[in-house]
Amino acid sequence: MSDKTQDNADTASVDPQGAKDGEKMVFQAEVNQLLQLMIHSLYSNQEIFLRELISNGSDACDKLRFEAIADATLFEDDSDLRIVVSVDEDAGTISVSDNGIGMNRDEVVANIGTIAKSGTKQFLESLTGDQKTDAKLIGQFGVGFYSAFVVAESVVLTTRKAGESAENAVRWESDASGGYTLNTAEKASRGTEITLQIKAECKEFLNAYRLRSVIKKYSDHITFPIMMLGDVPPAPVPAEGEDAPVEEPKQAELEQVNAASALWTRPKSEISDEDYQAFYKQVCNDFEDPLTWAHNRVEGNQEYISLLYLPKKAPFDLYDGNHQRNGIKLFVQRVFIMDEAEKLMPRYLRFVRGLVDSNDLPLNVSREILQDSKIIDSIRNASVKRVLSMLEKMADKQPDDYASFWSEFGACLKEAPGEDFANKEQAAKLYRFDTSNSDKAGELTSLDDYIARMKVGQDKLYYITADGYQTARNSPHLEIFKDKGIEVLLMHDRVDEWMMSYLHEYDGKSFVSIAKGDLDLSAIEGLEQESAEDKAEKEKKAADVAPTIERIKTVLAQNTSDVRASTRLTSSPACVVMGEHDMALHMQQLMKQAGHDLPASKPVLEVNPTHPILDLMDSEQDDDRFNDWAHLLLDQALLADGGQLEDSAGFVKRMNEMFLALKA
Ligand code: ADP
Ligand code: MG
Repeated sequence: MSDKTQDNADTASVDPQGAKDGEKMVFQAEVNQLLQLMIHSLYSNQEIFLRELISNGSDACDKLRFEAIADATLFEDDSDLRIVVSVDEDAGTISVSDNGIGMNRDEVVANIGTIAKSGTKQFLESLTGDQKTDAKLIGQFGVGFYSAFVVAESVVLTTRKAGESAENAVRWESDASGGYTLNTAEKASRGTEITLQIKAECKEFLNAYRLRSVIKKYSDHITFPIMMLGDVPPAPVPAEGEDAPVEEPKQAELEQVNAASALWTRPKSEISDEDYQAFYKQVCNDFEDPLTWAHNRVEGNQEYISLLYLPKKAPFDLYDGNHQRNGIKLFVQRVFIMDEAEKLMPRYLRFVRGLVDSNDLPLNVSREILQDSKIIDSIRNASVKRVLSMLEKMADKQPDDYASFWSEFGACLKEAPGEDFANKEQAAKLYRFDTSNSDKAGELTSLDDYIARMKVGQDKLYYITADGYQTARNSPHLEIFKDKGIEVLLMHDRVDEWMMSYLHEYDGKSFVSIAKGDLDLSAIEGLEQESAEDKAEKEKKAADVAPTIERIKTVLAQNTSDVRASTRLTSSPACVVMGEHDMALHMQQLMKQAGHDLPASKPVLEVNPTHPILDLMDSEQDDDRFNDWAHLLLDQALLADGGQLEDSAGFVKRMNEMFLALKA
C-alpha cells in the first residue's frame, strides 16, 4: 500500500498511475461507509443487486450504440447488444456480462471504488434505517454497483473498452474489506463481465428460476435483451433396435428473459397501467409508481412520441440551486441518444421524467445541435402544454393527488412566471396558497377560488409575502383586511417574493401586496358606507396626532423614508410598509446574507392614530424618552414583519428602560 493511498483516502484511488499491477488500492472513505451501510440496510431487499448490475450493463450498451453512430468500427462486427446473466451453482457464482462500451483502466479507477458524485454525502445522510425507504434511495443516488456486495463476499469485474485490444483489459477485484486490486487482463470480447462470489447466506440466488423472476420483476423493460441459458434439451431417444446416435450432447441455448420492447412505440390501447408503471420504475429508476403520465404520438409535419411521467416524490436535490438534472431522455428512431436532455423541458418542469423519441432529428445529434433546433423547440412547447394540462386535469379530477403533487413540486412550478412568459397564466392557474380565510396552515386556495369569493367591487388580488406562515398570518398589515372581511393570500415560500416580481396579473386582475405602497380599499362595496362617521372621526384623530408624527419623523429620519398615519392598522400601534417596487424586508435580508449588494431601500413607518401609545407619546416632554419611544415603535414593526434589527441590543435596552419608567 502506498503512503498516498493510506493518508489521503479522498484522492488515493483516483490516481490510476499510482496503481501497479496487483497493487492493493484503498477505497475512498465514503465508499467504505457506503458499503457497510448498504450491506446492512438492504438486508431484506437483496435481490435489487441484479437490477443495478443489469441497469449498468444497459447504460453501457446505450453508450456504445451512441458512440458507434460516429464510429461504427467500435461495434467490432458485433452489434447485437445484450446482457447475459449466468449462474454456476457448483462454483457459487453469478455473472452479469454486457457487450457495451466497457471501461479502460482510468475509467475503472474513477468509476468503481470512488464516489465522484456530489450526492454521496446526501445519500449517506438520507439513509433512514428503514430498509424499504433506503432501497429506494440507491437508484436515485447512482451508487448501484456497490449493491453487488449485498449478496457477494467478493466481486471480480473484468472489462475491455470498445476499440481497445484484447490484452488491454482490466481486472478489478474486491472483497469489500477496505480496498481492491487492479490487474491488466486479457478479454477477447468487448464489454464488462462482473462475477459475484455469493455469500453462504444468499445461496437462494444461485438458482436460474429465481434469477429469471427477479429479472422479470425489475428489468422487463430494459430495452436490450437480457439472456440466460435455457434448459438443456433432452437427448433424442433412439428408435428401437438402433444404437444411440454418436452426436455431441445437446447444449443449452441462450434465451431472452425480458420483454425488451420499446414500450412507448406500442399503441396506447395495448398498454396496461401496470405496464406504464413498471416501465417508469425501470427506465426512470424510481422505486415508487408515478403519480400520473401522458403518452402521445404526434404525426404530420413532425413525428415523435413522448411519454411523460410525474413522479410522486421530489428527488433530494430538486431545490438545490445547482440542480441541473432534467429527467427527459432523448431517443432518435428508438436509439437512445442522451439522458437529461435539458432543452426538452424548461427548468421549472425539471421534475418531469420520461422520454421523447423523434423521427426527424439526425442520429448524430449533439447537445450543441439541440441548442437551436426548431424541431426541439416545437417538441418542447408541445410538451410543456401537455404537462400543464395534465396537471390541470389532475387538480380537477384527483384533488388529493394534486395536493400531494403541489406539496412536492409546487415551489418548482412557481418558477414559471420568471422563466416562461407565454405560459405563466396557465401555470398560475395551478398555484395554491394559504389564505387569511383559514386559521390553519395548509388549507390552500387556488386563484380561481379566491376570485370567486372576492367582494363586490374588489378588482385586486391581495397578498402578503413573509418568511413563514406565522409571520404572514399575524402580520399587522392584515388587520384592516380581517376587519373588513377581505381575503388575503398568504405567501410564505422562499420563491414567492421572486415569483411575484414576475406575476403581476391573473385573469385580468392585478396583484397588490398589502405590505407595499398605498392602500386604497375605497372601491370595495360595503366598506365606505358603514365607516362614513368613523371616517370623520379618524380624520380628526389623524389631525390630532399629526404633530406627534412629525416629531417621530425627525427622530427616525435616518431609518425610514417616511412616517405617516396608517389606514391599515386596527389594533397594532405601527407597521412598516415597503415601496410598491421594493423587495420585501425578509427577502432583502436573505439577499444580503447571500452576499448581494443591495441598494438600501428604507421602509415607511405607518402608525396607528387610534392607538393609545400615540397619546402617550404626544404628552411626552422628555426628548430622550420620546426618542426611545420612536425607535421602539419602528423596531417592533420590523420584528412583526419578520425583519431583523440592526441594533437588537439597543432595542432590549430601550424596552427595559420603558419598564423601569413605568415603575417610577
Ligand atoms: P450509476 O450507474 O448511477 O452511475 P453505479 O454505481 O451503478 O452508478 O455505476 C458507477 C459507474 O461505473 C457508472 O456510471 C459507469 O461509469 C461505471 N460502470 C458500472 N458498470 C458498468 C458496465 N457494466 N459497463 C461500463 N461501465 C460501468
Ligand atoms: Mg448504475
